[in-house]
Amino acid sequence: MRSTLKDVQELESRHILQVYRRLPIEFVDGEGCQLFDRDGHEYLDLVSGIGVTSLGHKHPDLVAALIEQTKGLLHISNLYYHSLQGQVARHLAELSGLSRVFFGNSGTEAVEACLKFARRYWHTKGDTTRTKFIALERSFHGRTLGSLSVTWDEQYRKPFSPLLEGVTFVPPNDCSALLTAVSRSTAAIIVEPIQGEAGVYPLTPAFAETIEEVCQQTGTLLIADEIQCGLGRTGYPFYYSALGLKPKLVAIGKALGGGVPVGATLVSEDVAKTVSFGDHGSTFGGNLLACRAALTFLNKLVAGGLLTQIGRTGAHLERMLHSIAQKQPRIVALRGAGLMWGIELDSDAAPVVEAALNRGLLINRTAGTVLRLLPPLTITESEIDSALAILESVLADERVKV
Ligand code: PLP
Repeated sequence: MRSTLKDVQELESRHILQVYRRLPIEFVDGEGCQLFDRDGHEYLDLVSGIGVTSLGHKHPDLVAALIEQTKGLLHISNLYYHSLQGQVARHLAELSGLSRVFFGNSGTEAVEACLKFARRYWHTKGDTTRTKFIALERSFHGRTLGSLSVTWDEQYRKPFSPLLEGVTFVPPNDCSALLTAVSRSTAAIIVEPIQGEAGVYPLTPAFAETIEEVCQQTGTLLIADEIQCGLGRTGYPFYYSALGLKPKLVAIGKALGGGVPVGATLVSEDVAKTVSFGDHGSTFGGNLLACRAALTFLNKLVAGGLLTQIGRTGAHLERMLHSIAQKQPRIVALRGAGLMWGIELDSDAAPVVEAALNRGLLINRTAGTVLRLLPPLTITESEIDSALAILESVLADERVKV
């Protein structure tokens, strides 16, 4: 007999470490922007596994590439060569302007590598006092100890202290606070060009300019965490370029594997020169399956015209959101770019997420009052229209209040 949702929940409740508060729904299939639950109900997916299923569900090219790869080798370790890592790295270098890539398996590992390489840079240069980091208030960089040390939220940090010493948090967009915080012992400044978990807050161009100036004047390294906002999501390959930032280290993950876990750290040539054999490593990092997925995604993004398409669909989403916001007083702010948007409500967003789910739309709440939209990068204009029609009806429904 087929298991019920209750069976699934019961088994998990006995054996899964209880760190996730899941919604009571089990998905069994999907295609493109659609997901199907176990009862055959359809949902439009504007979460994409928190920005991961970048090509949508079961994209035929990704399915074919992965099937083909599983007929060959999956993994050989970084003790030996295979032909795919270099190809993925070349794509990433062309997109970012940073010449070298280190492969990991997740976003947080990509951030860890950035922090390590920043320290290694100064260590190699003989300046062993430059070990500190500046991060931004409201930042989220991951859950491992280094990434957590540059993550702002006390709720995530406190139970795991002491964390890395020497991290100073400054308010985003506060130029004078940043200038005061940078010292002779600052190794690097780490920023999300658009703060995602915080509620989708892009940095201001004026703040970006100050970051650039202070990095140039003091030699401080800039780390851009593009794990959520990068790889085409905003219509730019990386949002740092839209802000005029020139990071020496960039962390990416999420969208890169289209659902296969892969993360990467991109570094400039001068930083790369300070890293030696054995300084860092990963058993799984850059294995054939992960690289095949990344290569398929990157081919779609650039040669396949997805980036250009996001320019159009992103502009459409922006226009539609503004027209809803004009009519809907519950929306107090809209922030974002391309296919990454935060819709700030005047109250808790959880009831809206739940009501939308009941009407066949997946959206996500972050920072309490913010609805976050991170659809697959392949979403079409008509799917955007259908999703927003559901959202508008939920927001207009007087019964959906806190
Ligand atoms: N950095 C940012 C900006 C993120 O949004 C996330 C995840 O949400 C991470 C880092 C951590 O990535 P992962 O969960 O893949 O470790």
